[in-house]
Amino acid sequence: MSQPTPNILTDRAYIGGEWRDSERRFAVTDPATGECLAQVPDLGADEARDAIAAAEAAWPQWRRRPAKERASLLRAWFERVMTNREALAQLMTLEQGKPIAESRGEVAYGASFIEYYAEEAKRIAGETLPGHGADKRILVMREPIGVVAAITPWNFPLAMITRKCAPALAAGCPVVIKPAEATPLTALALAKLADDAGLPAGVINVLTAEKPAEIGHVLTTDPRVRKVSFTGSTPVGKRLLAQCAETVKKASLELGGNAPFVVFDDADLDAAVEGAIASKFRNSGQTCVCTNRFLVQDGIYDAFIARFAERIAELKVGNGLDDDVTQGPLINTAAIDKVQAHIADARSKGARLVCGGEPHALGGTFFQPTLLADVTEDMHVAREETFGPVAPVFRFTDEAQAIAMANATEFGLAAYVYARDYRRIWQVMEGLEYGMVAINEGLLSTELAPFGGIKESGLGREGSHHGLEEYTELKYVCMGGL
Ligand code: NAD
Repeated sequence: MSQPTPNILTDRAYIGGEWRDSERRFAVTDPATGECLAQVPDLGADEARDAIAAAEAAWPQWRRRPAKERASLLRAWFERVMTNREALAQLMTLEQGKPIAESRGEVAYGASFIEYYAEEAKRIAGETLPGHGADKRILVMREPIGVVAAITPWNFPLAMITRKCAPALAAGCPVVIKPAEATPLTALALAKLADDAGLPAGVINVLTAEKPAEIGHVLTTDPRVRKVSFTGSTPVGKRLLAQCAETVKKASLELGGNAPFVVFDDADLDAAVEGAIASKFRNSGQTCVCTNRFLVQDGIYDAFIARFAERIAELKVGNGLDDDVTQGPLINTAAIDKVQAHIADARSKGARLVCGGEPHALGGTFFQPTLLADVTEDMHVAREETFGPVAPVFRFTDEAQAIAMANATEFGLAAYVYARDYRRIWQVMEGLEYGMVAINEGLLSTELAPFGGIKESGLGREGSHHGLEEYTELKYVCMGGL
């Protein structure tokens, strides 16, 4: 194992293997305290073109490098990330706010993609197919797609980067990363560890910017970029996809969700409530697979709400650096405004406030974990991602109604089902229009499975061998005259 890197905090961007400063800088702040953690370069179109040029220059050598060597370099990066797990977790909690235990979990989760794709790099295979004539053979080669632009959100500052970069690098593609403006420090620390691990100059580049549109425009329109992989909100994803159309760039989009969590009368109540806590309140409700709607059957409705309220009362709000805290601050005041607007709208239309509902006494962007009962489909929480610690509970009567309610959204990322009856589980699972379904389980992300959504939740998958194929193109070679 490698030694810990003395100081992983870096306040320079990373282009072509060099640490790049700029006269214009912007502040990265701790959402728990409002303190400035660092000032990082505020870059624009010129630097974006420099990074693309560096990536393009690195591409021929990187793609020709034997897969085993790419795998070793990825493995070295993985080891550095894990050796620096605690420092990375601290940095992530400082700039993003999530509880330190969750940050440690994210480092391990994010690193698992590097480890997995280091292994997969050696297994990228083409095929030979029967020819369409006696003198012909068909060869199908799987080749790296080329320069990749990765645009990532603030809610998983590390894992959303490794989920894209590890398969891209394994496939032989260099990457230009544009991390979220709220959380660039984790991205820069990852680049520093990649540099330490010996990844060649230009293979990974990180551009920081306070306003993303200018860099985003270059990354989505420059013909040298062959693929854009974006994780973030659906409106931004749609705009980037439209920008990609001009150069017919491939795009993978991991967008918003509106996850239903369906609890049937025959569910194990305690297991359902534990799953509900995990799927709703992780990262204070700021994950794309967080439950947005609890759909609970008549017979278990009151018991579920009572038990859920008891467990919510045990959550501890505070600075994520304190070990016993389970709920950190929300990312910014806009997030608080949205949470409050959703609660006010629901209450004005008849929802019952069971607990929470107010900003937390700690002030800033801390908010009380909130439970709303008797929520109905005319309320904003039914249609929009709240992205905060609000659990709205809807009531349903039978399976058909549960499926119809669960699917009544333009999103289709993750869905959760708690039940015991085998036939019911199977029928509901088949009826759900979602990219991912968790049965009697509140957490489903793993590098081993294809993560992604349907409908307006996105295009493409991350994780598993499917995630690697997103960074490859098929080349059909017709061998004639044999
Ligand atoms: P966001 O769309 O505001 O920002 C995401 C990234 O896009 C950031 O890096 C941002 O700087 C950049 N960006 C914004 N406008 C841009 C533009 N015009 N051009 C180029 N880049 C631009 O999203 P967010 O608030 O950072 O993240 C929260 C959203 O992400 C939620 O909707 C959540 O559901 C979604 N998300 C989805 C997944 C998934 O896997 N499906 C995972 C995490 C988060």
